[in-house]
Amino acid sequence: MPLIAVLAGDGIGPEVTAEARRVLEALDLGLDFEDGLVGGAGYRGAGHPLPPATLELAKRADGVLFGAVGDPACDALERSMRPEQAILGLRKALGLFANLRPAKLFEGLEDASALRAEVAREIDLVILRELTGDVYFGEKGIRTTAAGLRQGYDVMAYDEAEVRRIATVGFEMAKRRKGVLHSVDKANVLETSQLWRDVVSEIAADYPEVTLIHMYADNAAMQLVRNPGQFDVMVTGNMFGDILSDQASMCAGSIGMLPSAALRQWSDDTGLYEPIHGSAPDIAGQGKANPCAAILSAAMLLRHSLEMPEPADRIEAAVAKAIVGGARTPDLGGSLSTSGMGDAVLAAL
Ligand code: NAD
Repeated sequence: MPLIAVLAGDGIGPEVTAEARRVLEALDLGLDFEDGLVGGAGYRGAGHPLPPATLELAKRADGVLFGAVGDPACDALERSMRPEQAILGLRKALGLFANLRPAKLFEGLEDASALRAEVAREIDLVILRELTGDVYFGEKGIRTTAAGLRQGYDVMAYDEAEVRRIATVGFEMAKRRKGVLHSVDKANVLETSQLWRDVVSEIAADYPEVTLIHMYADNAAMQLVRNPGQFDVMVTGNMFGDILSDQASMCAGSIGMLPSAALRQWSDDTGLYEPIHGSAPDIAGQGKANPCAAILSAAMLLRHSLEMPEPADRIEAAVAKAIVGGARTPDLGGSLSTSGMGDAVLAAL
């Protein structure tokens, strides 16, 4: 029986994850669920944001359904004890370097997009974000300069093997989709990006059927709102991918709509599945969170980790049907509660 580790976490994490789990249970796929403490909940319940038992559960599971971590009450803790370290630690410990973030506009959500309807309708892309390197994992600290000033520093670094493996995933995805790959960097100012660009160009020689386009991150941010339809697969580093995918979410209607998969390979692998949003402390506990990103993350889990594409399709179709039928949480301009939206998806299922 496939085991799903459910790491709901903090803030709206438990609220949206509960709806995703309800949808999985309704499909009656013979899945086994086991809960684990993570984030601020892990710190409070077991003294660490990523308790050893949770890491062990994640390693043992066939797939990890993750909510979100982040709790303002923990902001004063030393960095290694902060909730956010749990997700960074899980990605690193499980070797989850490839982050698939699909963004598309669901029919009926044109009004929720920050873009004009005719522009928003063109969005159907995947941001492929490198997840275990870059400035998020480099040496960091606060030191004192010779002039006696406090100075913060975070080292940005990628070695060529790290770039090669994520770029290869990008080319493989592009080959199976529309044959166009945008590689996003800042090679005009960053050495890390220059190496990134060089390595991606080297790999392009093995994929003559894919058109490779290099683009600077600032231009990519602008193009994403000007003409998102030009993009199909965008491969980029950890930080640029983090920022661009939040931007893409508002082009597609709401951050509450975008799921993600973090994988070691690009398919058929144990992975971690989570909405791209965080714990949203501003709306936590109010039943206002949109659970669709979590529900769609569950669909990605079925597709990528359990090789169950049919129920995955059913979940995605149910979300689409619920939305066409008018189901809307407040972020989408409606008044349904988190569980009300879950009910609408279940009814459509
Ligand atoms: P956030 O994504 O939590 O929230 C940003 C805004 O979007 C907020 O106004 C929030 O109300 C809204 N929002 C987010 N998800 C929503 C949903 N499902 N439905 C409706 N509205 C939604 O980002 P933030 O405010 O920058 O960060 C809050 C906390 O989450 C921080 O502690 C941050 O570190 C953490 N965080 C965690 C993850 C993760 O667990 N992978 C990712 C991003 C941020």
